[in-house]
Amino acid sequence: MMVIMTSSHTEEDMNAISSRLDELGLKGHRIVGVERTVIAVVGSIMPELSDELETMNGVETTVPISAPHKLASRQTHPAATVIRIGDVEIGSGKTVVIAGPCAVENEEQMMETAQGVKAAGAHFLRGGAFKPRTSPYSFRGLGEDGLKLLAEARDETGLAFATEVMSEREVEVVARYSDILQIGTRNAQNFILLEEVGRTGKPVLLKRGLASTIDDWLLAAEYILNMGNPNVMLCERGIRTFETATRNTMDINAIALVKQMSHLPLIADPSHGTGKWSLVTPVGLASIVAGADGMIVEVHPSPDHALSDGAQSLNFKRFRQLMEQTDQIGAAIGRPLWSFDKQPAPA
Ligand code: PEP
Ligand code: MN
Repeated sequence: MMVIMTSSHTEEDMNAISSRLDELGLKGHRIVGVERTVIAVVGSIMPELSDELETMNGVETTVPISAPHKLASRQTHPAATVIRIGDVEIGSGKTVVIAGPCAVENEEQMMETAQGVKAAGAHFLRGGAFKPRTSPYSFRGLGEDGLKLLAEARDETGLAFATEVMSEREVEVVARYSDILQIGTRNAQNFILLEEVGRTGKPVLLKRGLASTIDDWLLAAEYILNMGNPNVMLCERGIRTFETATRNTMDINAIALVKQMSHLPLIADPSHGTGKWSLVTPVGLASIVAGADGMIVEVHPSPDHALSDGAQSLNFKRFRQLMEQTDQIGAAIGRPLWSFDKQPAPA
């Protein structure tokens, strides 16, 4: 339920409502908009509550929230959420790009990649230190040593980074080093992990589950939001379908639809969405046109030698082309790159 406050409500009125909700075991999330302030009440709400709240000072009216994902919905929060990390804004209307290797492999590879993507214009770094792999015998990442290399690369380039957290056990260490906590597709409905990253208050990049419907995905976001962490970015990374010619099926429909349904920023992952480097740029561009606020892209100095996901990784030259085209196509629809140096990067 949404409690719509009058324009003359006071802090005292808000506090009185919060105390009453506490007594009832309900949560009230304050959403302060330009035109109105609302309290989104979530929990098991009894029907008499709206009458009671409507008699309280400062309350204009109450409105039921029909969407199952209440805090993620545009119904409760019509204005787009903007997440600021350092001096970059995500969801502001400009396009942001997160780039880096699938996995942090060693110091040289991480540093070279960080410098390469920075020179090409990336706004954030990515790199996996804790890697979910289908086979237990594949390279599973460097763990905390990988986080240290990412932090070193951030010091070197000034780019904040995203990295995956795979279990509750690792939330503390990953949160200590990183700027954005990534929840991978395989953990998209690990509800305890979602609550744990919610508690950190840090920006979260929530991948869509391999077999998650849009409702499943938004309800997963709801777990994080309901812990009082508003900094959630959704990430469309392709879903499993009957098609085997590509690794996954990038759901462009979902991008356009979710941008209508939710106020949260949405990042497209055309690397995992397609599984083929030659499809990354076209599908990434299509995602931006469909409404994505940015892209996360895998880049490796030598994709043929990557320890994971080489087939979908761009080299620096191709990544630079992706950046140029994203800026051009983005500009054509009023959403150019957040910042971009149009001069060719030095070779
Ligand atoms: C990744 O970003 O490297 C990754 C493992 O992604 P996903 O969870 O989407 O497969
Ligand atoms: Mn990968």
